[in-house]
Amino acid sequence: MSHIAFIGLGRMGAPMAGNLVKAGRELRGFDLDPRLCAEAEAQGVRGASSAKEAAQGAAAIITMLPAGEAVLAVWKELLHCAERDALFIDCSTIDIDSARQAHRLAAEAGRACVDAPVSGGVAGAKAGTLTFMCGGEVAAFERTRALLSQMGEKIIHCGEGGLGQAAKICNNMMLGATMIATCEAFALAERLGLSDRMLFDVASVSSGQSWSLTHYCPAPGLLPTAPASRDYQPGFMTALMLKDMSLAEAAAAQVGLPTPLAALAAQIYARYADRGEAERDFSGVIRMIREGRSAEAETSQAGARSKGA
Ligand code: NAD
Repeated sequence: MSHIAFIGLGRMGAPMAGNLVKAGRELRGFDLDPRLCAEAEAQGVRGASSAKEAAQGAAAIITMLPAGEAVLAVWKELLHCAERDALFIDCSTIDIDSARQAHRLAAEAGRACVDAPVSGGVAGAKAGTLTFMCGGEVAAFERTRALLSQMGEKIIHCGEGGLGQAAKICNNMMLGATMIATCEAFALAERLGLSDRMLFDVASVSSGQSWSLTHYCPAPGLLPTAPASRDYQPGFMTALMLKDMSLAEAAAAQVGLPTPLAALAAQIYARYADRGEAERDFSGVIRMIREGRSAEAETSQAGARSKGA
């Protein structure tokens, strides 16, 4: 049986590769960080000294990388040296242009490919419960099913190449905005004398209900599994939410669609990240919102400080 090559063994890639090993697959992995290769070896992934070495003879090549540039660089390196029937699967969250370019490069090289970004975070990657949103030809998608179902629970075909990324970006745009709306509602409830518990009990069975509220409540102490109940340790880092909101803004600008709510949400996460909270869970933004300082106040204070200096 041919092996699976896994490129990018970071917070998401390592547990995903580990689940493939647990499912009985032979894995060869590569990451620019040699410590991560060594850690992956401890869970049964055979380390390689380059992406090329990992991909040699592989039945499928999975990338789980930080951004479009890295994915394109790796695919350009591997598309022509991989086996003719090797399947390329990119699970990273990247911009739609890069995803479409990756599909074009694969088509030119005569290789089947799928963009398959994920939802579910590190916890979902570890538990093997990720949702995969896939873009690409139906035949290629069907070939990925067995492999992806060993790392996730829901495997959805969204349409042609790049539409997996479109689904991911739109989903996270909704998440980013609903989380801030949820945080603002808890902050207002507090000022009005309504307890967190009471707002949760009412809104979770009313029309204010959302995933941000019932699965990831930003107010501490209400959901034991939510980052709010562990001092906002991620979870999903603010830096990653900011990245996804920026991808959404870029996609909207490209098609000429105004998305003012998403733009404002991105600014709020950027302000929260600037306070040294980029690595804290994105739901921690409730702390800043509860302080109740407006963006204008912070800007004019910063202006006054710089005048005084
Ligand atoms: P990470 O930074 O932990 O891992 C990325 C890894 O890629 C790093 O270890 C880095 O060394 C490696 N890398 C970069 N360029 C490389 C190259 N050219 N060759 C080989 N290795 C290379 O990031 P992560 O949290 O694992 O996220 C990976 C992707 O998944 C991102 O696109 C992210 O947006 C997406 N994602 C993350 C989460 C999450 O909760 N962490 C959730 C959903 C989606």
